[in-house]
Amino acid sequence: MRKGTILLLFLVLLVCVNESGGKELEKELEVTVNLNKAKEAVFSSAGGLKIEIGKRSFSVPSSRLVHFKEKGGKIEWEEENILSSEVYIYPKGKEAILWGKRPYRGSFIIKASSGGILVINKLPLEDYIKGTMKLELSPSWPPEALKAQIIVARTYALKNLRRHEEEGFNFCATDHCQRYGGINAEDPVTNRLVEETKGLVLTYHNELASAVFHSESGGFTESALDVWGREIPYLVEVPSPWEESAPHSSWRVEFTKEQLEESLSRACLIQGEILDIRLFSSPEGRVEKIEVITTEGEFSFPASRFREAIGWEELPSTFFVMRKEEKEQKVRQESFPSPSSSSSSSSFSSSFDYYEWMEKDWDLDDIINFLKMREEERNRKKGIPPPPRVVVVEEVVSQGATFIFEGKGYGHGVGLSQWGAKGMAEEGFSCREILSHYFPGCEIQRATFK
Ligand SMILES: [Zn+2]
Repeated sequence: MRKGTILLLFLVLLVCVNESGGKELEKELEVTVNLNKAKEAVFSSAGGLKIEIGKRSFSVPSSRLVHFKEKGGKIEWEEENILSSEVYIYPKGKEAILWGKRPYRGSFIIKASSGGILVINKLPLEDYIKGTMKLELSPSWPPEALKAQIIVARTYALKNLRRHEEEGFNFCATDHCQRYGGINAEDPVTNRLVEETKGLVLTYHNELASAVFHSESGGFTESALDVWGREIPYLVEVPSPWEESAPHSSWRVEFTKEQLEESLSRACLIQGEILDIRLFSSPEGRVEKIEVITTEGEFSFPASRFREAIGWEELPSTFFVMRKEEKEQKVRQESFPSPSSSSSSSSFSSSFDYYEWMEKDWDLDDIINFLKMREEERNRKKGIPPPPRVVVVEEVVSQGATFIFEGKGYGHGVGLSQWGAKGMAEEGFSCREILSHYFPGCEIQRATFK
């Protein structure tokens, strides 16, 4: 049996890690985080860099910048006249590597990928957790709330190690996995708490729990069944009455009928024009199902799908009520009045021919007649209305239906509420009590690596 074995707690994890190189487990589990895909990447370190490309190794002096560029599907290091598909970058000393101007722990792997270079940071799991903290919570929060978040973040990471396996790394650095910002996202307070809680994870029946979290629940968390359609015994609705100071304790957003039609049909949730929307909510007030009545029929789907289609940021949670308003607006309109018809009613023939008259041998009567006809023509011209002018009028028109959503909370509402944890910690609850409130039936255990 390899040295890189692990406690029974992580049997599944063991398989995964051994596949990707069990040696790393002798020290500590390392993870890879894809920071970006870019056309170029610049690295440096105050202590210098060691760069490995294939079997070749290069030493880069302190603070010297190394530029890599994407060129024809490969990575080009112009200075050394090298084209490669993979480059390993290590710090020579204890100083962190700077990617651009941002410092990161551990090492870097850059890989040629279609249309750019994948910039991947490789570092111990515990250091990765440190680099997520300030992007989630303020280090000024009570330590028990911060510890709850740390344990949840660590558990979530271990549970999702294989999420980006096919792309060649463990995590992305966005909300999809967890937001990660390297050393800039660390803080001495949260770093100390990560070390204090090293290896602690949330388990259910001795297996890693699905430790999901969100910012604010709005007063009641949501069950996994209602949000994702999957029953998980410890992801159930629990009260969270400690969130009054949370920034989204109440919110209001509105969308026009057309905006909703566009978002919902783009997500293939509806067809046709919206006539009405009906909400089906839990007794606590969280919307579970939505029914949209359109000119094409009735469409019904979970509220979480609705939120996904509208946009996670645009509709902060599924804890809302809705009303429909017909909005009216004064609109300035420009119009051209139709020209007067008086000109066409003239008795004077438009076929009056001067030349015919001019060629005549005029007697006095002819002269008098001609003058009369000229006079008649002048009068007719006076009667012609002036060229049409633009007339501006204000008209009240209906803008159509607007749907107004008023709600509470921020996020999917399942699992740990970060603001709820803060409120509980402020009331004196411990990290253990916070986690067993939001994940009933779960335990905290230490994952150790041999
Ligand atoms: Zn991801």
